[in-house]
Amino acid sequence: MILFGRKDKHIGTREIPNEICVECGKKGGVVSVFQIFFHIALIPVIPISRKIASQCYSCRVVKVEKQFSIKQREVSVLLKKEFKTPLWTLIGASIIFILLLYKLILKWV
Ligand SMILES: [Zn+2]
Repeated sequence: MILFGRKDKHIGTREIPNEICVECGKKGGVVSVFQIFFHIALIPVIPISRKIASQCYSCRVVKVEKQFSIKQREVSVLLKKEFKTPLWTLIGASIIFILLLYKLILKWV
C-alpha cells in the first residue's frame, strides 16, 4: 500500500464534436480536467494543481495543454472556470488543522 504521494482524479469533461484530430483527421474529441493532489494513506491532504488533457474519439491520441488547438484552448479555459479545485482535496489539511487546534486548546485548559 502506498502511504503518501501524488494522485490525480478526473473532475470534468467537455465534448468538442467539431474538433479535427491532427493525428487521424477525424472529427470529435474531449477535453478533460484532472485534479492533482497530495495524499496520505489515500486521504487527500493538499491540492497541487489541475491538469488538462484532450483525447480523440477515433484514434485515442492524448494531447497535453501545450499541444492544444485554439478551440481546445478555449474549451480548457471554460473547463478551468467551471471545475474549481474541489473542497475534498482539503480534507486531510482540515483534519490536521483541527487536531493541532485541539492540542493547543488542551494546553491552555
Ligand atoms: Zn485522432
